[in-house]
Amino acid sequence: MSNLDALIQDLVIANRILAREEVVDAYGHVSIRHPDNPKHFFLARSLAPELVEPHDIVELGLDGQPVRDEKRSLYLERFIHAAIYEARPDINSVVHAHAEDILPFGIAQATPLRPVIHSGSFIGANVPVWDIADKFGDTNLLVTNMEQGRDLAKCLADNNVALMRGHGFASAGRSLIEVVRMSVYLPRNARALLHAKQLGGEIKYLRQGEIDARNRGYSPYSAETWRAWEYWANKAGCGHMLSKPDHAQAHKKS
Ligand code: MN
Repeated sequence: MSNLDALIQDLVIANRILAREEVVDAYGHVSIRHPDNPKHFFLARSLAPELVEPHDIVELGLDGQPVRDEKRSLYLERFIHAAIYEARPDINSVVHAHAEDILPFGIAQATPLRPVIHSGSFIGANVPVWDIADKFGDTNLLVTNMEQGRDLAKCLADNNVALMRGHGFASAGRSLIEVVRMSVYLPRNARALLHAKQLGGEIKYLRQGEIDARNRGYSPYSAETWRAWEYWANKAGCGHMLSKPDHAQAHKKS
C-alpha cells in the first residue's frame, strides 16, 4: 500500500470514528491536506461519514473545487476546509460537525466554551464564536462559498476550534489524529460544563497554566495519541484497517 493509499485509509477510519463517537451523524465531515501538495486536500463526496469508503474520497483544491472531473455530488460546506487550509499552513486536518452538546455555547453568550476537563485542554484556551449573520445577514446558515469560509477562518484565527452560531463547529489540527481527538473531546468538555452549570455556583475553568502543562510536550504522533486512535478505530469496527503508526504520521515531516 502506498503512503497516499494509507493516508486515504486513515481518512476513512477518521470518518468512521467520528460517526461512532456521535460527533457527526448524517452530516459533518473530516478532511486531510495532501502531504505532497499543500494546495490540495482530501474529503469524501457528499455521504454520511459512517458509510465512507476509500473510493468516496475526492481531491480538492484550495478553492473548494475538485481537481479532476467529478460527477458525484460534493459536500456543500467543503469551503470550510478549503478556507482553513488556505489561511493556516500549519494545519493538516479539519473537521466540521454539528455535535449537539456544543450548540448552546454558540447561542448563549453568558458562558464561554473553554476547557474544564483535562482532555478538553486540546481545544485550546480560547474558542471563538463565529456568527454568519454578522457579515452575510440572513442565510441558510451553511458555509457555501469561499467568502463565507474565509470569514470563518478569520474568526478561527490561530485557535484550534471555532463555534458556528446555531450550527456547529470547525476544528483544525496539525494531524488527522489530533483533529479527531480534539473533535471527540470538544462535546465531552461542553457536556461537563453544561452539567456543572446545572449544579450552580461559580465555574472553575482549567487555569491557563494547566492548559499549557497538558499541551506542553504533547505530540500528535506520540504513543499516547496512537493508543486513543487504535481504541477508537477498533470501537468503530475498523481495527482491521489500521496501518502502522508511521503511516498515520505522513505529515510528520512538515
Ligand atoms: Mn454544517
